[in-house]
Amino acid sequence: MSQFIIVPKISSYPGPEARARVMLRWLIERGVVEAQLTRCGVNGQWAHAIGPRASEVIEPAGLTLLPVNEPCNGVQVVTKRCIYTPKDAFRGEARCPECRAKVGEVLVEHLEVWMPGETDNFICPECDHEDDINGFPFDEACAFSDLGFIFNNWPGAYFRRGFLDEFAERLGFPIECVQVST
Ligand SMILES: [Zn+2]
Repeated sequence: MSQFIIVPKISSYPGPEARARVMLRWLIERGVVEAQLTRCGVNGQWAHAIGPRASEVIEPAGLTLLPVNEPCNGVQVVTKRCIYTPKDAFRGEARCPECRAKVGEVLVEHLEVWMPGETDNFICPECDHEDDINGFPFDEACAFSDLGFIFNNWPGAYFRRGFLDEFAERLGFPIECVQVST
């Protein structure tokens, strides 16, 4: 089981539910996902199944890379605050973009304050640089937001760059692509 998750690099996305609907409409019109919800999500949750033109966003194009035979292969959208980290052997190493200090351990602890929404930001304990928590890069792709698009068992490494660029453009924020293996 793996998940490829596209997340805007911002803790509090402005109007996450409305944007989720707009993005889904785009994905449906493009034939990337089906309009109907079916039980193709995690543990049989409702999700949007692979659409008729989904292979066009994968490179090389073709259905062979898509999880067509997996029972869990749908796209699910999350509109509540969520922490996206790679699950297998997550090292949790991050650096301050200003002073380059290793801040991973403190950042991970800080998630306990971030998760209930007490703050969106993190302050570097070494140099006091303050920014949205997504502004402190981890070694492995991670993201923290109230909007996330989960592609269950889709081959993250094979998404077309142009599609991901358009995804970011339509979200209006840079994106992080988190690959989760469970
Ligand atoms: Zn710093």
